[in-house]
Amino acid sequence: MPGFPRLRDAYDLVVVGGGHAGLQAGLKAGLLRKTAVVIDRGPKYSRSYYAPRMDNIPGFPEGVSGHKLLDLQIAAVRRVDEFVDYVTPARVASAERSGSGYAVGFEWLKQSLVARGSVLVLAMGVVDRIPEVGGKIDPIFPWANQAIVDFCLICDGHDLAGKTVAVIGHDAFAARTALDILEFAPKGVELLTHGRPLLADEDADERAALRSALDERNVRSFDSEMVGFDEIREKRFGVRFADGSHRSYDRGFSALGWYDQHAAIPRSLGCAFDPDGFVRTDDDARALSAETGEPIPGLYCVGDLRNGWKQIPEAWSYAERAVIHAWAEYAGMPGGPPPYP
Ligand SMILES: Cc1cc2nc3c(=O)[nH]c(=O)nc-3n(C[C@H](O)[C@H](O)[C@H](O)COP(=O)(O)OP(=O)(O)OC[C@H]3O[C@@H](n4cnc5c(N)ncnc54)[C@H](O)[C@@H]3O)c2cc1C
Repeated sequence: MPGFPRLRDAYDLVVVGGGHAGLQAGLKAGLLRKTAVVIDRGPKYSRSYYAPRMDNIPGFPEGVSGHKLLDLQIAAVRRVDEFVDYVTPARVASAERSGSGYAVGFEWLKQSLVARGSVLVLAMGVVDRIPEVGGKIDPIFPWANQAIVDFCLICDGHDLAGKTVAVIGHDAFAARTALDILEFAPKGVELLTHGRPLLADEDADERAALRSALDERNVRSFDSEMVGFDEIREKRFGVRFADGSHRSYDRGFSALGWYDQHAAIPRSLGCAFDPDGFVRTDDDARALSAETGEPIPGLYCVGDLRNGWKQIPEAWSYAERAVIHAWAEYAGMPGGPPPYP
């Protein structure tokens, strides 16, 4: 049972979300001797928690799991606990401007608490949509946990060379993903539309262009509904269909987009969003206002939630940028503006 979070009356920074981006923001704040609280639902809600091997993380030439990397980041944050509180499991429900800073309301166990800070860093990430079979998302978990089914092309595309790949999805995003996968030299790619007509929701021009690109590159589609998976022992992605057929692939790839882009809190704070639904920021990760296009004072957005590539090194880099910018702008850089009002 986690101990009662002893909150300070006010922090320099409140960080919402303790995945790779939020933990890095908390660590950086502590290293800069600024107070921060990182409020997180729990590592199992991080996107990478189910990534068994990540190959692009500096310092891990043999790869590292998302789970292990989060543990290491949490340990680093705990080492600066003179300055930084890490509160979990806690779900943030609201954030609003309060005086010259922000008030963040969250649930910790059954209690409603408020953390106040001069600067607010949003780092809630996004949540992938999981393929459903019979209305349930769990049938695919064993294959996802063993990375037999992937979710992120720029993370895992390099592992698809020479393999047969089933891309799950029916829309333009899925069709583009199937075409993009071809860049990684797979043996073959097929689209499984899971009972939905391929590209039915796209406008006629886009549908025609994508269909012709798929035909040209020999990407076939199968529209029968998926009713179950097998071949986990063989480390393959076997799919059973409603029409009684069965297909077997080296890999699956889920191209269903996002289940939750965590827009409610940034929207309530007046953030601008890009056309794909991510929070617009500038190069210092300052959240931009929907009304003026200018940075919203004291508000930053880092990690997958912001516009940009969805990768851990990028999450880290923007977390660092955000906190360093906040430190310089609001926290009293030596010879700079006075500390927080
Ligand atoms: C299968 C898979 C494989 C991947 N492989 C790689 C890879 O190899 N290399 C790579 O660089 N990237 C990889 N990624 C991408 C990587 O996981 C993300 O870029 C990274 O997790 C983004 O970090 P983040 O902190 O923005 O979000 P997350 O790590 O998703 O963390 C968000 C955190 O916010 C918390 N949260 C959300 N809402 C609330 C709330 N209301 N209150 C409190 N807390 C909240 C959650 O608990 C979670 O801990 C992969 C992703 C997937 C899905």
